[in-house]
Amino acid sequence: MSVFHDEVEIEDFEFDDETRTYYYPCPCGDLFQITKEALENGEEIAECPSCSLILKVIYDPEDFQPETTQSSNLLKLTS
Ligand SMILES: [Zn+2]
Repeated sequence: MSVFHDEVEIEDFEFDDETRTYYYPCPCGDLFQITKEALENGEEIAECPSCSLILKVIYDPEDFQPETTQSSNLLKLTS
């Protein structure tokens, strides 16, 4: 059901420290956005609030692992 407008690497997003959100320009003039928290939760879809377009975010989940869950994820992988 999900049709991505594009796939964009997280490096190409702009990070806003105050909102802890990554932004990327949308063709409609607004901004795609995805929070750092969402990335830490394994989400990879940035949405534009003004239109129905969505982006797939390309990133390395290891860069966004909260330190507290890293060890439990490792346990899951090895068991
Ligand atoms: Zn848009």
